[in-house]
Amino acid sequence: MTEGIVTNFDLTEEQQQVQGTIRDFVKQVVAPKAQHLDETAEFPVDTFKGLAELGFLGLSIPEEAGGSGFDTLSYILVVEELARACASTSLGYAAHISLGTTPIYLFGTPAQREKYVPQLCKGVDDNGNLTLGCFGLTEPGAGSDAGGTKTRAEKKSDHWLVNGRKAWITNPHYSKTCIFTARTNANPAQGKGITAFIAELGTPGFRVEPKEDKLGMRSSDTAQLVFEDMKLPLDAVAGGPEQVDVGFPKFMKTLAGGRISIGALGLGIAQGAYDKALEYARQRKQFGKPIGEFQGVSFMLADMAMEIAAARHLVYDSARQRDAGRDFALTASMGKLYASEVAMKTCTNAIQVLGGVGYTREYDVERMMRDAKLCEIGEGTSEVQRLVIARSILGDLRDK
Ligand SMILES: Cc1cc2nc3c(=O)[nH]c(=O)nc-3n(C[C@H](O)[C@H](O)[C@H](O)COP(=O)(O)OP(=O)(O)OC[C@H]3O[C@@H](n4cnc5c(N)ncnc54)[C@H](O)[C@@H]3O)c2cc1C
Repeated sequence: MTEGIVTNFDLTEEQQQVQGTIRDFVKQVVAPKAQHLDETAEFPVDTFKGLAELGFLGLSIPEEAGGSGFDTLSYILVVEELARACASTSLGYAAHISLGTTPIYLFGTPAQREKYVPQLCKGVDDNGNLTLGCFGLTEPGAGSDAGGTKTRAEKKSDHWLVNGRKAWITNPHYSKTCIFTARTNANPAQGKGITAFIAELGTPGFRVEPKEDKLGMRSSDTAQLVFEDMKLPLDAVAGGPEQVDVGFPKFMKTLAGGRISIGALGLGIAQGAYDKALEYARQRKQFGKPIGEFQGVSFMLADMAMEIAAARHLVYDSARQRDAGRDFALTASMGKLYASEVAMKTCTNAIQVLGGVGYTREYDVERMMRDAKLCEIGEGTSEVQRLVIARSILGDLRDK
């Protein structure tokens, strides 16, 4: 009998250690409160402090920059295992690492890296407050069309003056820094006229709106950011002054990495729902036998197992491509798209396997289904992933 994860990925000893550690942590800390967090929409501050103690808040950032120096696949294993029990926790974790921290590490000047990255990796300050990172790209009028940024930064003699609004930002109430985009148009001949800035939460003129009330991912912190005459020092441009107007590609690269994380998030949710359906199909009896003996039920489980295995191959492969220094954008989009859709389908069918109880709040598959829907929207909707994949395989046909 094959239990749980059915495929062998020849994880290294280090990766297996990370996986073992996070599984224990999830069992003891994350899983017992997942339902409660969904009901109350409370942010799991203590869980994040626990992740900080494990050194997992800077897991995939190199040691010399203040992180723990593990590879992308190790980090992906953590996102997956967290999502298997509590996708809201996993979303906040993934957004902190791949969106809030990694772009400052990758694209910041040496001074910016030194100033921000070690504290982001530590995750908690001396007063015991969380110091997560957030990433502000989306705006009320610029979602899939992220280049339609309206937030403006004007260069003054000794500072930047920023005005605008960002929407759907993950983690801002618990963040220390935000890397965000603003239109600068200092030199329209260059790039898209969009610059990446790093701002500290608490800067005058930088306000975080109350948390959004969402269908799923309820305990994850999502809010709008408002910039009203926010003054930033001239050295707040991510990567330094020569990066003015050319910040947009950095954000697109960051999203490509983030898509591996959302793929892992979908994968974890799917695995979690499948685990519940499998267990239920073995013990629930109707017509005098376990419902798993009915072909209608067993075929649903067979499809779930196969699709989860296929999603895992795509997601782990994109992490390995990134670790090998290869171009991983196409595989990451494929993994994100496929794992998100597998998560949604698996959760819907897991509810079907559980019947009436699956439709109640007492069993967590309905929470998982609500959480899974986010994977088809965040970091580029499923339609946007299909556009990215189609462009990549067809090339640019406009001049042909
Ligand atoms: C819980 C949550 C957390 C998030 N966290 C962050 C974050 O931390 N940072 C951040 O910057 N953003 C974040 N986002 C924003 C997220 O990335 C956007 O919601 C997403 O990119 C879609 O943008 P939109 O919501 O404006 O939808 P729209 O772009 O308005 O899309 C609406 C519909 O139109 C479709 N559509 C749009 N353009 C096309 C096209 N060209 N072809 C076909 N279909 C199209 C879309 O696929 C979708 O179905 C988050 C969102 C959520 C819900």
